[in-house]
Amino acid sequence: MQPQRITPKAPASKSPAPKALAPNAHHTPQPLTLPPKSEWLNPCQEGSATMEPLRTCVGCRSRAPQTHLLRFVARGTELVVDEAAVLPGRGAWIHPNLDCYHLAEKRRAFGRALRAGNAIDTTHLEKWLNG
Ligand SMILES: [Zn+2]
Repeated sequence: MQPQRITPKAPASKSPAPKALAPNAHHTPQPLTLPPKSEWLNPCQEGSATMEPLRTCVGCRSRAPQTHLLRFVARGTELVVDEAAVLPGRGAWIHPNLDCYHLAEKRRAFGRALRAGNAIDTTHLEKWLNG
């Protein structure tokens, strides 16, 4: 008894490859609806809505609004208090109290902050703080 010969099925006719391009591919983009400008900026998470820039005190290394700090600059090897924060040049900031002054002095932070080395003369600032 001969096994019945199974005739292979004819290969299915190739279905035409689907066209990738939609007929409407070059439609004009929808105009973006932007949120109101006030929502663009992530509000500062520190609670206060101050716009003042923060500066780092060279003494206690904490950050504070620059109005809370005293600016000083280097003039030659002398540290000069810049009360109005208007003097040109490289400046640094410190809390106007002797605690931060002594902290900064101990760490030699004045010379480092002003890129003046260790020879910076801080007597002007000390006198200013002593009133
Ligand atoms: Zn300080």
